[in-house]
Amino acid sequence: MGGSYEYYRPATIDEAMALMEGSGGNGVYIAGGTDVMVLIRQKKLAPACLISLRNIGELAYLETGGGLTVGSAVTHDEIAKNAFIQRSYSALADATKKVGSLQIRNVATMGGNICNAAPSADTACPLLVLDASARIAGKGGERVVPLDEFFLGPNKVALEKGEILKGFAMPAFGEGTGSAYIKHTRREAMDLPMLGVAARVTIRVEGSEVGCRDAMCTIDTISNILKRFEDEGLVCEDARIAMGVVAPRPMRAKKAEEALKGKVISEKLLGEIGEIAASEAQPRDSIRGEAWYRRDMIQVLTGRAILRAVDRVIRPDDVIWPQRLW
Ligand SMILES: Cc1cc2nc3c(=O)[nH]c(=O)nc-3n(C[C@H](O)[C@H](O)[C@H](O)COP(=O)(O)OP(=O)(O)OC[C@H]3O[C@@H](n4cnc5c(N)ncnc54)[C@H](O)[C@@H]3O)c2cc1C
Repeated sequence: MGGSYEYYRPATIDEAMALMEGSGGNGVYIAGGTDVMVLIRQKKLAPACLISLRNIGELAYLETGGGLTVGSAVTHDEIAKNAFIQRSYSALADATKKVGSLQIRNVATMGGNICNAAPSADTACPLLVLDASARIAGKGGERVVPLDEFFLGPNKVALEKGEILKGFAMPAFGEGTGSAYIKHTRREAMDLPMLGVAARVTIRVEGSEVGCRDAMCTIDTISNILKRFEDEGLVCEDARIAMGVVAPRPMRAKKAEEALKGKVISEKLLGEIGEIAASEAQPRDSIRGEAWYRRDMIQVLTGRAILRAVDRVIRPDDVIWPQRLW
């Protein structure tokens, strides 16, 4: 295994797919190479050839009109630094900011993160809560697959041999929508998540928006802040919750989402939502953490991710206070 292999740099998707066909399906597509090269070094992968996707302009788009579309070859750093994404698709900015190190983020792509299909892929949960779909190029043309159906299991995605992931499409969300992703790691720098939780909420304030904003701006306890939300009637109109590293594939917590929709946000409710999300997960023991700990932390982090998302709606221009837990 290992040894030498040809390295191709096609300029178009068609050329790349033809090269893959020419290799009898034994070639490997490579984008940033931060997963592929590790596998080759570990002798877990011995490609007949490497087909680079880096020179293909068709995969490097980032468009923000009427939603968000991101090409598979866009790097984590480009996504993390995009002001529109930071504001309107914040969960994605949260995740891409935290992938690996700056060196990794400069070359590694979101397409590679998703196609590699690790349960710990940081961008998976944000894409799930942002209702992303995958655009796939194949011999028969283009097809679109909702992201929830794209992950089939560890290292397994819904790509047929030779197909190329072109990119991701996300809808535009209306007023009152915010999102957040929380990556839980053993240490701050360069670590894969022990657990990841993303949330997207659309909220409506029945009482006073100023009251809610004031609550967020205090250094009060979370219980008191949530009490003020309850008094002002902060209602969750729509919700998405996704969890990573708690099952063989990144997953939505659909029962928890349903339980949150239409309710006034309160401390009791967030506790219940966390419990429901934890009951939907199937975590296992691993070197990064034990199953019981992951389950406990889902409960905690689900509420925090929802609160961060709410904070982004209520105080869109403010930096989220680092000393706050959410
Ligand atoms: C030091 C280090 C730290 C890391 N930290 C993190 C982290 O914190 N969080 C995290 O989630 N990941 C992390 N990773 C993993 C990795 O960096 C990411 O998964 C990254 O996004 C992979 O992107 P890439 O462009 O390098 O993919 P590549 O290695 O080029 O490809 C990965 C897989 O996707 C396939 N592929 C890529 N693009 C396409 C496409 N357009 N169509 C079809 N197939 C395609 C390749 O064939 C390959 O199977 C880390 C890796 C390293 C080495």
